[in-house]
Amino acid sequence: MKKKIEQVAKWLDIKTNLKGIELTGVSINTRTLQPGDLFVPFRGEKVNGHKYVRQAFEAGAAASLWQRDEPNPPEDLPLLIVEDCQTALQEMARAYRDELSTTIIGITGSNGKTSTKDLVASVLKPYFKVQKTQGNFNNELGLPLTILSLDADTKFAVLEMGMSGFGQIQFLSELARPDYAIITNIGEAHMQDLGSREGIARAKFEITAGLETHGKLFYDGDEPLLQPHVENFLQAVSFGFGDNNELTVTDIKATENGSSFMVSGIIDAAFTIPVLGEHQVKNTLAAILVALEAGLSEEDIRKSLKDAALTDMRMQIIPAANGATFINDAYNAAPSSMKAALNFIRETTMKEDKWVVLGDMLELGDKEQEYHEALEKSITSDLTGVCLYGPRMKWLHDKLASSFKGKLLWSEVDYASIISLLQTNISADSIILVKGSRGMALENVIEPFTK
Ligand code: ATP
Ligand code: MG
Repeated sequence: MKKKIEQVAKWLDIKTNLKGIELTGVSINTRTLQPGDLFVPFRGEKVNGHKYVRQAFEAGAAASLWQRDEPNPPEDLPLLIVEDCQTALQEMARAYRDELSTTIIGITGSNGKTSTKDLVASVLKPYFKVQKTQGNFNNELGLPLTILSLDADTKFAVLEMGMSGFGQIQFLSELARPDYAIITNIGEAHMQDLGSREGIARAKFEITAGLETHGKLFYDGDEPLLQPHVENFLQAVSFGFGDNNELTVTDIKATENGSSFMVSGIIDAAFTIPVLGEHQVKNTLAAILVALEAGLSEEDIRKSLKDAALTDMRMQIIPAANGATFINDAYNAAPSSMKAALNFIRETTMKEDKWVVLGDMLELGDKEQEYHEALEKSITSDLTGVCLYGPRMKWLHDKLASSFKGKLLWSEVDYASIISLLQTNISADSIILVKGSRGMALENVIEPFTK
């Protein structure tokens, strides 16, 4: 954003004598603050941002907010006094969004938000000015900051919306007012707070709360729990594997360069993407739907999807020095994404010698043991080896100990035994899927093989 301070004061409905100061961005962190930014100090549990206001000006802040009940506002600095800094940040984003003519695409879902965001941005990028959520800036702070970082001439903004409870997606959607909304899937994450998968579906559907009246919802049509919600919702368009969907996919083939597939329904065409996994192909369907709305031709879409750039550690192909292929999906793991990744490794014909390295799935609540044990069903006998990492994977290990005939290893806390088992066993004919929750940092297992 580029705004004069008096315009920002007007957004916030506050009086100020300050005039003419140009604000070129908004920052909540003095370490990443850019000269010209408006600094927004938060009072968190551990730190109080108001202590850093002077430091923010030293880093080049043009002005700062200040929460009214915070004592001793420095009188020599240009401050806008607000009741609550977090609310003010959200109000600024809301007001700025109202001024923008940018087409907003909001993405939620249990898995695949970042992947889909990258795919949507990649498909549009050669043809339009596109901005997207950086990293995981997808909550009640990250989303307003992302909106405020948009340039006025940005044609498409692709925004990730995350949540851990009811009402949060509704809030984000009403703030961002998406022209297009995407629900990637319904998984099991945040079961602790939402009670059931039905609850998760309801919470994700909240993304329609702020959907523009001319807008559309693209949703996972393979998920029965979304059906009752979309039944009377005219703006909904389904995508997925089932041929009941308005855009569906067939003939998925995995190669060392990625996936090729056919889509049918709204259009009939063939595409390729440089990533693996049927779930990533499914995410691509959402990107194709957005691209069609943007007026792109099949040929335009085909060209940009071929080189789509995904964030690291999502079904990323990593060639090892000895010719083996690692699939780095170590960014995160939940039962649904585990199943999707294991499904890929089972189906792939890329290489014969198949391995999986699986780490704990965190934050699953009471049913965590059940979820870990249930993975047994996805571990098939064609796998050469299964390496398990983390205390929770002991549950799966104990199940597999009697049923799995290949090489089986469980390590509670160290990567070394897994690395050495792989070192003595894998060859150019091996493909190794590596996946676990973020806290397990399983990319460490791949690292020694890339040198
Ligand atoms: P977070 O909630 O951590 O931000 P996210 O929703 O942004 O996650 P991604 O980072 O895109 O999701 O992917 C997380 C994991 O889920 C990866 O392992 C990825 O391969 C897998 N995944 C991506 N899309 C899907 C999907 N449609 N269904 C199941 N799993 C998926
Ligand atoms: Mg994400």
